Amino acid sequence: MSKSKSSECVKVVVRCRPLNQKEVEGNHESVVSMDVKSGQVQIKNPKSPNDPPKSFTFDAIYDWNCTQSDIFEETFHPLLDSVLNGFNGTIFAYGQTGTGKTFTMEGVRSNPELRGAIPRSFEHIYKHIARTKDQQYLVRASYLEIYQEDIRDLLSKDQSKRLELKERPDTGVYVKDLLSFVTKSVKEIEHVMNVGNQNRSVGATNMNEHSSRSHAIFVITIECSEDGLDGKNHIRVGKLNLVDLAGSERQAKSGATGERLKEATKINLSLSALGNVISSLVDGKGHIPYRDSKLTRLLQDSLGGNAKTVMVANIGPASYNSDETLTTLRYANRAK
Ligand code: ADP
Ligand code: MG
Repeated sequence: MSKSKSSECVKVVVRCRPLNQKEVEGNHESVVSMDVKSGQVQIKNPKSPNDPPKSFTFDAIYDWNCTQSDIFEETFHPLLDSVLNGFNGTIFAYGQTGTGKTFTMEGVRSNPELRGAIPRSFEHIYKHIARTKDQQYLVRASYLEIYQEDIRDLLSKDQSKRLELKERPDTGVYVKDLLSFVTKSVKEIEHVMNVGNQNRSVGATNMNEHSSRSHAIFVITIECSEDGLDGKNHIRVGKLNLVDLAGSERQAKSGATGERLKEATKINLSLSALGNVISSLVDGKGHIPYRDSKLTRLLQDSLGGNAKTVMVANIGPASYNSDETLTTLRYANRAK
């Protein structure tokens, strides 16, 4: 019973980017094949090409021909509608650095066709609000980052401040002093995102390296009030978490020591804690190990229960990535 119920609320999909220009020019072989209709992904072992490929099946898969609009309409749109109806929801982009997590979440800003989940969500939310007559909406946005188990408010003027996770019996887990801004249009909420993105790169000597080691979480809270048939005013609150996770590649190359090793251990810890939470939800196990990382504690009220979760596992097709790709497919398969 509980199994089917939880698994309806958790969807794991796999998305594979195309070979990039460098890979094409370098004549890199693609080892991934996908059958979008059946949801099957196959990966060849480049070291022993005669072995049968490993095969995995998912609820939905998106190959290099799938567009941003395809994945939005099929996978993100239903989650967003449930948030507009007062439920919590979370979209995660998981995967090795360079496989398309940021492409999936943010996309390419300059090209409307290539916009990702976050800008499409902004548009969807405000279109919905504009269409609605008998309800009032209040939209608020927050933006934070988890780096080495430290929480930073990306909208704060003081970027050196670290925030704490607190818990209250009535409202549950929350981030103390996290700022949130009321936004009234797509333009305003885009501005909030831009400010956060700018702050995110402040202090990072190499943005790509920084983003591969930290989780970025954009939170949209949508409050809807309407007059009920009982003559009273009713409020529903839904929260949408849009999460660009740290890179899943094995961080600790042999010989890593000191800060680097500590950092690597923490990233691996939070990604495996997330995997454990999601697979416990899917299995319908009683105990869900939310407390094992800041990421899962922070998102506790948006993972499980009535909340909906989509995990997009991003992979690349090139043969030299096949070990990491296989690791990602196994992670996704366990979470499914
Ligand atoms: P990550 O955030 O996982 O490190 P990115 O999203 O930055 O990876 O993607 C790496 C590069 O690949 C970027 O230049 C991005 O535009 C491109 N890319 C990723 N996914 C796709 C896709 N599905 N189609 C086309 N280009 C993609
Ligand atoms: Mg990225």
